Amino acid sequence: MKISLKGVRGSIPTTGAETSIYGGNTSCTVVTEDNWLLVVDAGSGLQKVSTDQFSVKRVDILLTHLHFDHIQGLGFFPALFDASTEVHIWGPASATQSLHSRLSRYLSPPLFPVLIRDLPCAIVMHDIENTDFEIGPFKIKSQYVIHPGPTVGFRIENHRSTFVYIPDHEPALGLKGLPKDKKWMSGFDLAIGADLLLHDAQYTEEEYHQKVGWGHSSMEDAVRFGEMAGVQRLLLAHHDPTHKDSMLEEHFKVLQHKFPGLSMKYEFAKEGLEIEL
Ligand SMILES: [Zn+2]
Ligand SMILES: [Zn+2]
Repeated sequence: MKISLKGVRGSIPTTGAETSIYGGNTSCTVVTEDNWLLVVDAGSGLQKVSTDQFSVKRVDILLTHLHFDHIQGLGFFPALFDASTEVHIWGPASATQSLHSRLSRYLSPPLFPVLIRDLPCAIVMHDIENTDFEIGPFKIKSQYVIHPGPTVGFRIENHRSTFVYIPDHEPALGLKGLPKDKKWMSGFDLAIGADLLLHDAQYTEEEYHQKVGWGHSSMEDAVRFGEMAGVQRLLLAHHDPTHKDSMLEEHFKVLQHKFPGLSMKYEFAKEGLEIEL
């Protein structure tokens, strides 16, 4: 499968010269194999995805949750306005309202001029929980993780490799650091043994102490999480809007100093990065 990062910024699009290396678009990753196209989260990076380049007539959009930085690109995705396209949207169930009615809060006036029911594409909504499902060549597992509101991470496997996507996640919540016992760690079952893990790393360890309960991880905890789960390669993502390229490059040296000799490869996720798994 091929993984393409279209947006790795957290919270709000952050464009400008100071974020041009790691990128300013919010969460969106594309996973492709043969003629199958998965869009994982629909942040502002979705504007960089065209279905034409893949010549597919079906798109599957997997939403980890409905915070605006993960759905704001939806209204600007050409596939939704193409009558010949079938769009499946998979997102976490809530106890009170369907996925359709919660997405309608954004895709309706006054926030957006077009109603979901007036979109020309064929749209199919799937409310998911801790669910195993298949899309074309992909076996997918969704599982709830710690983050405010119903939020899942995704484990996406094909016959050869495994990509795990958990962009918003605070496994250290309520504890001093990560749980020692892996079986009590949020997201562990999803991430275990992955070839590639994209994980929340919004804050430095110092910043995290001021933001406990906001739903995100420190870069340090993200590295510890990836190492505990035995992943091969980790992409540190959901960069804080205040983190300029220069800050991330500086902090990478701090991480290398704090975690010498790891077998796992890790790096800050960069918009535009493509990985063949
Ligand atoms: Zn987010
Ligand atoms: Zn969020």
